[in-house]
Amino acid sequence: MNFEIQQKITIKDVLSQTRALISYNEARILLQSVLKINHAHLIAHSDQYITLVQIHTFLSLVKRRANGEPIAYILGECEFYSIRFIVNSSVLIPRPETELLVDLALEKISLNLPCKIMDLGTGSGAIAISIAKHRPISRITATDNSTDAISVAKTNARHLGTNNVNILQSNWFDKLEKEKFDLIVSNPPYIALNDPHLNQKALNFEPKIALIAGEDGMECIRTIITTSTSHINAGGWLLVEHGYNQANICNWLLKNAGFSNIFSCSDLAGILRVSGGRYMPNF
Ligand code: GLN
Repeated sequence: MNFEIQQKITIKDVLSQTRALISYNEARILLQSVLKINHAHLIAHSDQYITLVQIHTFLSLVKRRANGEPIAYILGECEFYSIRFIVNSSVLIPRPETELLVDLALEKISLNLPCKIMDLGTGSGAIAISIAKHRPISRITATDNSTDAISVAKTNARHLGTNNVNILQSNWFDKLEKEKFDLIVSNPPYIALNDPHLNQKALNFEPKIALIAGEDGMECIRTIITTSTSHINAGGWLLVEHGYNQANICNWLLKNAGFSNIFSCSDLAGILRVSGGRYMPNF
């Protein structure tokens, strides 16, 4: 960025000067965060002058965005299921398509019955906390192998006043001994090691460990499906998010592990995104 910083510059001017670098929408979101104002205020006061310090701060954010860093990391937050979550580079940015997993989980849990729910690989805690908020008498356990992710998830649970979530560091079920749940959900890593999707610049900023799952992308899903049967109550459900081409293999793995009522569900883009089944060992 080599435009000259003038002494007196308005909101409108500073936004127009970044047009070649990032989109107007992204620029105004970044500027709103620097000025701590909302969109309506920004529009209504676009002729207002901003200070040099504010300009410098804004331009440093614009530079990060122009370099490919996702806006959620720059702002340190992201909306998921209409809830604002804190995020940083130790957790995956919650994706809109993952809201399907929450929708399906909520369908399986009654509002009036206390259920035990497990979220494996919780990251920012977005899935676990969204479920917890909508099912206040249920108890949710959320695990992640990364201690940095656990600290983000715990901060989110605390900030959002969620007291029915227990967040702990564990490699999948390792620290849970024989504990069983009525519903297990997971959005595990599921991208194949050599998937060209990984070449997208924005993904470089996200933790590889939360994205990549071995040669075929199925390493984590395989573990989750095969180990879940020891941690699921009879009649309980397992729901897993997966990649665009993994529904068939997930269905097959679920069947082999002894699940019934197996199904796959498409996200809003029409891509089969979540598969699940019911564990009925005695039927
Ligand atoms: N859906 C994410 C993406 O395509 C990947 C999330 C995951 O691996 N769990 O970038």
